[in-house]
Amino acid sequence: MNQQYWEKELETLSQVDLQILQYERLKKTLRFASQSMYYKKLFAEKKINPDGFKSIKDIEKIPFTTKEDLRSNFPYGFLAAEKREVIRLHSSSGTTGNPTVVYHSKHDIDSWANLVARSLFAVGTRDTDVFQNISGYGLFTGGLGFQYGAERLGALTIPAGAGNSKRQIKLMRDYGTTVIHTIPSYVMHLVDFFREMNLDPRTDTDLRHMVIGAEPHTEETRQRIQAMMGIKAYNSYGLSEMNGPGVAFECEYQNGMHLWEDAFYAEIIDPVTLQHVPEGEIGELVLTSLDRQAMPILRYRTRDLTRFLPGSCPCGRTHRRIDRMKGRSDDMFIIRGCNVFPMQIEKVLMQIPEVGNNYMIQLETIDGVDEMIIEVEVLDGNFLDNYSKLEKLSKIITNEVKNEVLVTPKVKLVQPNHFPPCEGKALRVKDNRKQY
Ligand code: AMP
Ligand code: ZN
Repeated sequence: MNQQYWEKELETLSQVDLQILQYERLKKTLRFASQSMYYKKLFAEKKINPDGFKSIKDIEKIPFTTKEDLRSNFPYGFLAAEKREVIRLHSSSGTTGNPTVVYHSKHDIDSWANLVARSLFAVGTRDTDVFQNISGYGLFTGGLGFQYGAERLGALTIPAGAGNSKRQIKLMRDYGTTVIHTIPSYVMHLVDFFREMNLDPRTDTDLRHMVIGAEPHTEETRQRIQAMMGIKAYNSYGLSEMNGPGVAFECEYQNGMHLWEDAFYAEIIDPVTLQHVPEGEIGELVLTSLDRQAMPILRYRTRDLTRFLPGSCPCGRTHRRIDRMKGRSDDMFIIRGCNVFPMQIEKVLMQIPEVGNNYMIQLETIDGVDEMIIEVEVLDGNFLDNYSKLEKLSKIITNEVKNEVLVTPKVKLVQPNHFPPCEGKALRVKDNRKQY
């Protein structure tokens, strides 16, 4: 059978039918939400009557929910179900203050697994694949989220966990892994281990494609990953507040990520005015869960910056596509009056062939002046012995970064593998500036 979709009817609904479905699901969601202490109080205060909602657009009557709201109502303020109906929680680490926690009922876990299965199917993963999930298990959603999704699809799923690169490579070779999921910054380390073991991922594995996500990365980084691994790398977007993975996913055409609109209602707003941006412009993604019972979240401000992409997709899926994340509104830093996103710097670096795979941006106050120091691994360690080549590369990086962000950086070139692999999301910016 040449099946093209995991759930054809849902994935190819017309936008009009999708909006009708969203409206139906929103009504159910509101009924669940009003069982939680938080939304019950909010609806009473704002005189919101879910029965009065006439279309999905009425959602705009509801105020936004923020991470702060989740934190300050920790641990059970958003819980909308009886404890006996809840079967799992996931929570974000939260280095300061309360973590954010999300509860799932059996229905919620089932619906999430289906969304991930659908996403994997869209990039060509099948029940004949061996799927190695190189991702932290436990409270982080990338582990169990992909585990359940790949199992739902019927793939032989290896819960490899994060880190331990030599073992990851051994698992790939022992079991003939065909698909991997991991965060992009980790792939950059993994390829170094392949090299160290005298192996080439392009010829010494059975890999067919990979899924990368959970952290911002540029198209240039993806291109590098694809060239090094010799396979296509598909972008996967999600966040714990909306389950985790399986919110938006590229299809085989790699032209933006289809956002699963039967399960999430998406809006894009200007983070300052909080008004919707004109269609196609970049702004902050706001999401409402439409198929969750234990803990629905309404109009959640993700802080992630993206835009809707115009046009239809040749794959036939009708769910709208969002662009690769430009970053998070809280990732942006201001230095010498200029607004800088780490992804702007990554984009420049990854286009320079002599630049290696990892980098770190440090912000320091030196003699009373704020400086942006970029430590950059070179691709070939021998390079560091050649002073004139080094000088030339530093100059190229300095000029190109300056052209992109209008701030002249100090560039420090370092050995390949200078930055140790981290098991979680990569830290790209350290701000050590003096606060006045
Ligand atoms: P967490 O809830 O800890 O899994 O983190 C979710 C956050 O990771 C999102 O809000 C995004 O900021 C980021 N993220 C996840 N997937 C992607 C992706 N494909 N591209 C860019 N950022 C991502
Ligand atoms: Zn598509």
